[in-house]
Amino acid sequence: MRMKHRILIVEDEPAIADTIQYALETDGFEPVCLSCGSPVAGMLAETAFDLIVLDIGLPDISGIDLCRHIRKDYDIPIIFLTARSDEVDRVVGLEIGADDYVIKPFSPRELSARVRAVLRRTAPRAEASGAAAAFRIDALRRQIYYFTTLLTLSRFEYDLLKTFIHRPGQVFTRDHLMELVWDAPEASMDRTVDAHIKNIRAKLRAVRADIDPIVTHRGTGYALRENL
Ligand code: CA
Repeated sequence: MRMKHRILIVEDEPAIADTIQYALETDGFEPVCLSCGSPVAGMLAETAFDLIVLDIGLPDISGIDLCRHIRKDYDIPIIFLTARSDEVDRVVGLEIGADDYVIKPFSPRELSARVRAVLRRTAPRAEASGAAAAFRIDALRRQIYYFTTLLTLSRFEYDLLKTFIHRPGQVFTRDHLMELVWDAPEASMDRTVDAHIKNIRAKLRAVRADIDPIVTHRGTGYALRENL
């Protein structure tokens, strides 16, 4: 029943990336490798990952800065790889909020064990989100299932609903949703968001008339109910 945990590895040294990928595959994970930081945002928008293994010394952006960007939008656990033990204080500090770190050189077995431990520790966060469990996202096909029924969604409806499902309980303002979902937010008006939410609700009601998983926070925005 449980799908394989998908792990994003961001590491520019091919030998290290290959070793990690092999070790994680062997332990039943589904790893995906990137050799620099710039494609990470696009990757996360398209595919749901359970954890990120992030090298601090990347060629295009520091792993620490990248972590900050990721944390604005996602609650994904992050394990840092670092070659310098003096970086550790910054990494585990509250400011960055890494879930764990591994100092190079490390054994792939050790890293895999850390991955498993962090996933175990962070699992209740995901399982507590009851409403999100009613949905399944097929990111490759940009499709969302609701109680196993495939929803017919427009591009914006898909992106909006996906945003809610990734962060159950979080209240998104209309401005924030615009920023996350629309390419040129300034060209649209606030109520565009409202119109799309109304459509999404109608489509969800067509599947289950008795529940409304999207909550309106008056004067603020919208959120996915944490529990149905
Ligand atoms: Ca590196």
